[in-house]
Amino acid sequence: MPAATSRASATGSRRRSVRSGFLGTAVTLLAVTAVTVTAESPAMAAIGADRGAPGQGDPYFPLAGNGGYTTGHYDLDLAYDPATRQLDGAARITARATQELRTFDLDLSGLTVRGVRVNARAARWTRQGQELVITPRQALRKGEGFRVDISYGGVPENITDPDGSADGWITTDDGAFVAGEPLGAMSWFPADDHPLDKASYAFRITVPAGYTAVANGVLTSQRTTGGRTTFRWNQAEPMAAYLATATIGKFDVQQYTTASGIPVYTAVDPREAAGAAPALAQIPAILDWESTLFGPYPFAAAGAIVDHAPDVGYALETQTRPLYDRAPDVGTVVHETAHQWFGDSVSLTSWQDIWLNEGFATYAEWLWTEQHGGPTAQAQFDSYYARPATSSLWAFPTADPGQGANIFASPVYDRGAMTLQKLRTAVGDAHFFTILKAWARGHRYGNGTTAQFVALSEKVSGKDLGALFHTWLWTAGKPAQP
Ligand SMILES: [Zn+2]
Repeated sequence: MPAATSRASATGSRRRSVRSGFLGTAVTLLAVTAVTVTAESPAMAAIGADRGAPGQGDPYFPLAGNGGYTTGHYDLDLAYDPATRQLDGAARITARATQELRTFDLDLSGLTVRGVRVNARAARWTRQGQELVITPRQALRKGEGFRVDISYGGVPENITDPDGSADGWITTDDGAFVAGEPLGAMSWFPADDHPLDKASYAFRITVPAGYTAVANGVLTSQRTTGGRTTFRWNQAEPMAAYLATATIGKFDVQQYTTASGIPVYTAVDPREAAGAAPALAQIPAILDWESTLFGPYPFAAAGAIVDHAPDVGYALETQTRPLYDRAPDVGTVVHETAHQWFGDSVSLTSWQDIWLNEGFATYAEWLWTEQHGGPTAQAQFDSYYARPATSSLWAFPTADPGQGANIFASPVYDRGAMTLQKLRTAVGDAHFFTILKAWARGHRYGNGTTAQFVALSEKVSGKDLGALFHTWLWTAGKPAQP
């Protein structure tokens, strides 16, 4: 079967493989973000009571996101010229202060800021590493809604992840492959760049005629005048910044609505079209199958972007429109589509809980294989369990990757899926699938934690699952019992 074949040919994970050439070339930005900033550290102590914190305090990426406000909506007006690689942007962000703010931050890496306005009045601003520090003319009161306008531009530079791969605005031979996990959003727009702060988005992207600009959600208009085409996209449901895209290239576009009523937009680089066709043809079936297992599809649109970006080395579950660096196999499409429920609609609270995204999406592949004539999930579990204790699969506990560089490694994906199989055998199919649906429904458009998932599993099943999760999520090394 296709999925079984795909597992043999690729890991099926979000991060397929990282070219060794990227390793060891980590950019200083991540070194900066790796600095531990805690409430007790001098960096935080120096911040006055009316300055928003420069980060959300994520243990792995302390400067990701910001404190003192929550965003409600991003309006991104972008123009990009693939020939010069020049990006010009105007971002309008509506937000609400959660404390009194004389100064607050957005995350922005590279690019040149031309001007900042808060509530339509010019504001002072400075750049401090990845922090764009903004001081409005008038302090914001706790609870006050406000609007920030940032005019900016330049040649975007992608960000190097802790694991050595590139993310953010990644230039291709015909445009850009734009994938933001975990910290790439800030390479192309000013953002509160942490999944804890989700917002709706509208995109207006202008490119030379002949190019297509694909973002998230619903395409609301496409107009060509004077040799340039403007694409407007609307992402109405909340989205984490890292799941935004504005991928640009020369694409074959297909639009249709599935029998169950989901509008689908696919953009495919012609060089990948033949290879991608079999997997893309399965999108309606995958959406229906996953809706049956996980509950109603959470978004107003679906689709895919298949780029020709062979150096990237991974696919990403960009919201409503997964982004593939090459023609995907069916297993990879199943994986990235499952993320629409697990990762996109239900987002993690801390990057340490990345298994809530990747373990679930990997387990969706196992289920697809099981229900489409391939090995059962238990057989897949058994083949992983057969790996020796020295295997990288057991390198660290699933729910404790230890650092950002490990968040896309096998213990998160494969041992994460094994944990779900252990849960399924412990509680039985009826309870297990009730838990998956309840998780997707209960945290829809929000965030979840590992502790909440454990509590839900115990509540639905009526069982004490402490020992199971302790062994499979939190204990180092290969568990003694399969
Ligand atoms: Zn994934």
